[in-house]
Amino acid sequence: MITAIYPQSDARVTRSLEGKVALITGASRGIGRAIALELAERGADIAINYRASLIAAEEVRDHLHETGCECKLFQGDISDRQHARRLVSEVRDHFRHIDILVNNAGITRDRSFRKMTDEDWAEVIATNLNSVFYCTSAVVPAMIEQQYGRIVNIASFVGQAGNFGQANYAASKGGIIAFTKVLALELAKYNITANVVAPGFTETEMVAAIPAEILKQIQARIPLKRLARPEEIAKAVAFLVCDGDCITGQQINVNGGIYM
Ligand code: NAP
Repeated sequence: MITAIYPQSDARVTRSLEGKVALITGASRGIGRAIALELAERGADIAINYRASLIAAEEVRDHLHETGCECKLFQGDISDRQHARRLVSEVRDHFRHIDILVNNAGITRDRSFRKMTDEDWAEVIATNLNSVFYCTSAVVPAMIEQQYGRIVNIASFVGQAGNFGQANYAASKGGIIAFTKVLALELAKYNITANVVAPGFTETEMVAAIPAEILKQIQARIPLKRLARPEEIAKAVAFLVCDGDCITGQQINVNGGIYM
């Protein structure tokens, strides 16, 4: 008789994040929402940041409360440095500490380079890249004091490979990757790790805006022939946070093989 060596995956989820607090930016929808659910399942208390989608954010919070998780919503436009820094101080006032920061919030304003406006450029850089600096710089001093921190930045394969019509987005995501390596180097001595998860095309509202015909062509380019699910990105984040004590300055690509 063959006996299963490993338990079923559900049984393997341990609550190793009990007592830890995770701040996730842009967690009202999509990938951020999935990360909130995944880290909560592993025992973390969750601070959910969102910008405008109050009803969606409340749905995430209510769902997490039902599972017994301590969770609170924090509205704030993190492309604005004052909002971002106020967000971090409000989370700290409420939870007393922040152990995990997931810089996830992001937008696209796609246009070919020749048609791209200053506003398209500035909005994407402010939301996707400046916000990462603002939130991280506000969180790190207390992480240094507590000699513990786990920072995960959500980039994109577009920051590695480029993509037509996304000069602004690619620059923001490439910037996140480079920024993360410097953080990893400078903060390792304080037991703070910094890593990137780089998704490929993932089933969220961000991708829902792509016309069906183009999406079909995209899927054909992906070796696994499908988009990623938000939960699959969230599992990579959970791995880095729960089991990645010796991993820093790295990227995990969850992209179906579209970039290797
Ligand atoms: P999404 O479904 O559009 O959700 C975006 C989230 O970010 C929402 O919660 C939104 O809040 C929040 N947000 C946007 N601007 C914000 C701001 N200025 N301040 C605070 N929150 C803000 O996007 P997603 O697909 O989940 O993407 C999440 C991350 O993964 C992004 O960094 C994205 O670039 C990256 N990514 C996505 C894909 C993909 O194919 N989906 C691929 C690679 C990388 P509101 O709901 O309140 O607006």
